[in-house]
Amino acid sequence: MKAALDVTEQLRLLRENYAQQLPAKLAQIEHAFRQRDNMLELTNLRHLAHSLAGSGATFGYPALSVAARQLETLVDAALCDGRPLNPTEGDCAARLIEALGREARKPMVPAPTPSLPASNVPEAERKLIYLVEDDAALATDLMLQLGHFGYIVKSFESPKQLLETPVDPLLAAVLMDIVFPQGDLAGPEAIIQLSIVRQLRTPVIFFSSRNDLTARLAVARAGGAAYLVKPIDVGALIARLDSLITDLPPEPYRVLIVDDNGPLASHNAVTLQSIGISTDIVTDPMTILAHLDDFKPDLVLMDMYMPGCTGAELAAVIRQLHNYVLVPIVYLSTETDTDRRLIAMQLGADDFLTKPITPEHLVSAVSTRLRRYRVLRSHIEQDSLTGLLNHAATKDRLATETARAARQQAVFCVAVLDLDHFKNVNDTYGHLIGDGVLKNLAELLKRRLRRTDIVGRIGGEEFVVILPDTDAKQALALLNELRDAFSLVRQRANRNLTFTTTFSCGIAEFELGLNASDILRLADQALYQAKQAGRNRVALANLDEGKAAEARILVSE
Ligand code: GH3
Ligand code: MG
Ligand code: MG
Repeated sequence: MKAALDVTEQLRLLRENYAQQLPAKLAQIEHAFRQRDNMLELTNLRHLAHSLAGSGATFGYPALSVAARQLETLVDAALCDGRPLNPTEGDCAARLIEALGREARKPMVPAPTPSLPASNVPEAERKLIYLVEDDAALATDLMLQLGHFGYIVKSFESPKQLLETPVDPLLAAVLMDIVFPQGDLAGPEAIIQLSIVRQLRTPVIFFSSRNDLTARLAVARAGGAAYLVKPIDVGALIARLDSLITDLPPEPYRVLIVDDNGPLASHNAVTLQSIGISTDIVTDPMTILAHLDDFKPDLVLMDMYMPGCTGAELAAVIRQLHNYVLVPIVYLSTETDTDRRLIAMQLGADDFLTKPITPEHLVSAVSTRLRRYRVLRSHIEQDSLTGLLNHAATKDRLATETARAARQQAVFCVAVLDLDHFKNVNDTYGHLIGDGVLKNLAELLKRRLRRTDIVGRIGGEEFVVILPDTDAKQALALLNELRDAFSLVRQRANRNLTFTTTFSCGIAEFELGLNASDILRLADQALYQAKQAGRNRVALANLDEGKAAEARILVSE
């Protein structure tokens, strides 16, 4: 992994650089302080303190950030009154500057030496973000962190530079600092200009170490979509970005049309496709089970009378399948006899549309039910903390995937992820921060996996990823990438303290003859091996040929 080394090196250099520049920055502060009766120098002092406050913690000097913030606040109070520092304030500032000097001489708090795995998010799905931040080191750091989540970041060092650049049509969001050397509200002012001059319409997230009403008002006037206070919590930032960027268009609704009359089925299919619904047709009712598992419909449009069995009988069969207890079934039939309709409804259908039906009526009847079904299903299937599939839904999907793979002789893998020493995280930082870590992992998995992959949270700190059409080797490489990326995500404990954490993972590949619980058990055993081998690693359960029961485990770091 060449790229990984480069980035590690890059980050190390940045930190070193920062440390090296600290004495010069402090000298500037001391200089400005000596000239403090000159209001321009006093303003400069505030800016210098502000910039140290915003960056120190990120580069391993949390206490420096705290002292710098106190200095900034103190100077700011005087500036707001339009007067120089009074003697008491002067003494206090002098003490804070001494403290800055002491903190700067202390060794930096060691940070993990990260490596950046190549992102597996396809180029087309990666989101372009503009970052406008005058502190180069902070900008680079944010770029790296956002990179872990699959964002591409283009960085600008001043609002002016941004204004001079044509807006990329693929731009998804702007991250804008508020205070720049050019002005204390230069960020929001530039955004107002940009929306006039360049018709900027993408959401803008502002961030600043300022947290006062004036700044917040300026952001509101500039139409800011969010306001984050530095130091930036990357998890919170990603969550904001994800909710703001109306991502990939929503997955199209899927309607399964069951009708022995091929041309009629096709006609209805085309009608539904015209409003973006995807369709699948079953003309032989006896093949419906395979269609259900492969197509995973959100609604079944069912003909009433077909050779072999009736629509009502098929509906009853569908209702026996655990995964399809809720899926709406709508009859489309020439049947007008009320009694017969009632009987059919009792067998588990939701509605009865009468043939011939106008395209408008079909579309409207079907779309309302589709929307309601998706909402209902998300309530039932989602884990409320992370928005991932919950335990039951994950197991259902695994069963479906196993059946599909067996039938199509396809390959797929299951990965079980478990956070390492997570109890320590809770014990050290509290349960809420622990929850934040779980959300960050969920977010990373959602962003970095394909849409066809299935991600669920099956226990407190245990996650399952199902990777269709992926063999063990590919799964191993992918999960190792995710493991690397996650280990680099800075989790925020409080304003000045971040930490990193890791997960271990076991992978099992589907083989003919295995059922869903076999695969999950194998992946679990592999996870156990990964934990035993020292954690923060991925282990693969390999079946010895002919010995399906015994798992041979390969561990890779
Ligand atoms: P190991 O590396 O062996 O997995 O160690 P561990 O500490 O992660 O494992 P253990 O099973 O001993 O502890 C799991 C911890 O996960 C205990 C529990 O407090 C925490 N946990 C489970 N569910 C949640 C949750 O929803 N939120 C938070 N914050 N913590 C949770
Ligand atoms: Mg556990
Ligand atoms: Mg654990």
